Amino acid sequence: MNYNLKNKGLLLTVLLFVFAAPALAQGRTENVILITLDGARTEELFGGLDIEILRAITKEGPVQDTALYKKYWAETPEARREKIMPFFWGTLMKQHGSIAGNRRLGSTAEITNGHRFSYPGYSEILTGEARDDVINSNDRRRNPSPSVLQFLKRKLNLDSRQVAAFASWDVMNWIVESEAGAITSNAGYQAYEHPDPEIQALSRLQFETPTPWDSVRHDLYTFRFALAHLKTYQPRAMFLSLGETDDWAHDGRYDRVLQALERTDNYLRELWTFLQGSDRYRDKTTILISVDHGRGDTAGQWTGHGRRIEGAKYIWIAVISPESSQRGEWKQTATVYQNQIAATLCRVLGLDYSEHNPRAGKPIQLR
Ligand SMILES: [Zn+2]
Repeated sequence: MNYNLKNKGLLLTVLLFVFAAPALAQGRTENVILITLDGARTEELFGGLDIEILRAITKEGPVQDTALYKKYWAETPEARREKIMPFFWGTLMKQHGSIAGNRRLGSTAEITNGHRFSYPGYSEILTGEARDDVINSNDRRRNPSPSVLQFLKRKLNLDSRQVAAFASWDVMNWIVESEAGAITSNAGYQAYEHPDPEIQALSRLQFETPTPWDSVRHDLYTFRFALAHLKTYQPRAMFLSLGETDDWAHDGRYDRVLQALERTDNYLRELWTFLQGSDRYRDKTTILISVDHGRGDTAGQWTGHGRRIEGAKYIWIAVISPESSQRGEWKQTATVYQNQIAATLCRVLGLDYSEHNPRAGKPIQLR
């Protein structure tokens, strides 16, 4: 072989290597943020105010006279949902991301666990696997399976502040890690230590502003602590778990459910504005927003969820990612599952979650 041919051979080898690069080639994502809205139904998310529920809860007079109707009603589902979540629908899903789960358009997202309540749902999200025999209550029991957050900490060689979970529901401390203290975790009525005096004041105030529920603090505190942590410690993996949408629904307070969604929309706006103003996060961050379970799909069942409530298996999954150019609602696509979320979070970072849990759902195909 003369010199020239040898060089060509080398070039070919290099080219082959480049084009046969492993399927897990690194994209632009360097950070991941997972956000959940406990038990937020597909009905309100995709369709806004549910007139059947409003009729059922209106004690006297026509529904048109109610404050909820005046504030949130519009003729089309698209216009209604935008009245509750104007940033999510008007900006985030139009310009930056997409969402699966609108069955009206032929897109379905489902959970695979059979329990249809919170611990099994969060565990399925965080471990990529339903374990109905083991994860079968909402009790404060340590998750036996290490979570995707622990996997990311190990694979990316992060310290415990760079992998953080903030949750309104106290049981989340038991779900997010199989070993206490592996990651930063702050959930329920729990003090959060931070150098900013304003955050210190909020940390004290959470104990003086009880919700009607012993195990769930107001989402306001959860969000403020998470945002402060993000700004100060710049974690590469963050889980923000909001809870009020579920608890107000159990209490039959439809007004408060819609208001909680509206406040969440403001949190998303504030979070997004911060991320886009940050060199660390802008265009390098994948955000997945989803839900632990759905709830009943009728005016008689909307407050509940669980094994016997069929509608509770339906969820939605929103993706805002530099790895995806898709915008708006998914249409006529294969069903996606809750157990795929963990692997998707790894996939966008160029990591293969199946090496951690071979039984986990495979990454969602982003387009
Ligand atoms: Zn619930």
